[in-house]
Amino acid sequence: MRKILIIEDEESVRENILDLLEAEDFETLGAANGKIGVHLAISEVPDLILCDMMMPELDGCGVLTVLRQDPMTATIPFIFLTAKSAKSDFRRGMDLGADDYITKPFTRAELLSAIMNRLEKHATLKRYFSPQTAIHNLSPKMQLLQISLHRAIKQQKFQEFEIYYQPIVDIASGKIVAAESLLRWQSPELGIIYPTEFIPLAESTGLIIPIGKWVLKRVCEQLKSWRNLGIFSLNIAVNLSVIEFNQQDFIQEIINFIETNELQAECLELEITESMILQDVNSAVVTMNKLRTLGVKIAIDDFGTGYSSLIYLKSLPINTLKIDRYFIHNVATDPQKSAITKALIQMAHNLNLNVVAEGVETEAELAFLHQHNCNFMQGFLFSRPLPAVEFENLLLTNKCLYV
Ligand code: C2E
Ligand code: MG
Ligand code: MG
Repeated sequence: MRKILIIEDEESVRENILDLLEAEDFETLGAANGKIGVHLAISEVPDLILCDMMMPELDGCGVLTVLRQDPMTATIPFIFLTAKSAKSDFRRGMDLGADDYITKPFTRAELLSAIMNRLEKHATLKRYFSPQTAIHNLSPKMQLLQISLHRAIKQQKFQEFEIYYQPIVDIASGKIVAAESLLRWQSPELGIIYPTEFIPLAESTGLIIPIGKWVLKRVCEQLKSWRNLGIFSLNIAVNLSVIEFNQQDFIQEIINFIETNELQAECLELEITESMILQDVNSAVVTMNKLRTLGVKIAIDDFGTGYSSLIYLKSLPINTLKIDRYFIHNVATDPQKSAITKALIQMAHNLNLNVVAEGVETEAELAFLHQHNCNFMQGFLFSRPLPAVEFENLLLTNKCLYV
């Protein structure tokens, strides 16, 4: 049975809500003031809290502030009960992190709908964030990885993460025009962990949301600091996970990061994969169009490894196609790979898309790409992914690719 705590100093209102919720089979707890409310929240850890905003001594905002500081109570869904006139109080409450509010007097249906919505949302988040998620199916190493990752994010230890930058070079001019941001995690328990290991785990636990947000924020701050150094014509590509791409507030977040750092939206390119689009083509196109309207560019990553339906590409608002490393490896000598790569470049150009070849490791591969007018290359032949300072040195020394 789900437990709801009602913190309300007006006895008649409190009793009313208690009766109503008991009739709906909730377990209920009542508190007549903020102090008792905090005490009960900590000792009983309810599934949801309804709290009056205006109370003598410790008011609703005070209660919320205390509860959000305690890890045991920080994530309990919190709904404010407010008086109609108290608009500024309401704003303050939401800024403190309340999940919802209901204005008094409210109907039974309004109250129940707010409660059910919050409980449902919380259950979904809990499924994502719980370190217990399917943990028994994981190998001991993956279990440790999951626990460490959870700890790092929960404790906001983002200093364990570092963004590396791998140059993307214009094949015709040999100049660095962009970089792809690639995440690294230095775990105190496990040492350096590559994204192929921890990103899938972060995706299955929902931790990718705070991680992805941090990556975007750091990349935008980095772009700003490079601009301050006089580096203007650099684009950065950021990998997105499907969960981030489908987040409601994702577009607003991007706008905030761009505005805070006074960037041109055009210097940001988001890398998504075919499978992310095909999960829900219509909604993906809506999101992509919104991004494009802002000026943010979109690349299809790892092209050729997914569904590779060439027909739908035509109707997508994208700028760049990144040919997967699988096709580039030995492209000059493997007749099938060279045929496919040639066709992909040709097709992309017909659709007015730029082409990046991923994972270029040899001179022969580069020569092939040059000969077939591939626009950009990325790979160990020119540079591995580098820490920001080292990448900055490449830029400042004008390191060029000689084709
Ligand atoms: P990706 O986006 O396809 O990134 C390219 C990967 O190829 C990188 O691996 C890069 O180090 C590697 N690579 C580049 N050039 C060469 C080469 O010449 N030879 C070989 N053998 N490999 C090369 P990395 O850094 O391990 O990243 C793996 C994947 O993890 C990325 O693949 C991307 O899908 C994902 N990822 C990385 N950072 C992020 C992130 O911040 N967010 C999300 N959602 N995913 C990320
Ligand atoms: Mg990528
Ligand atoms: Mg790729």
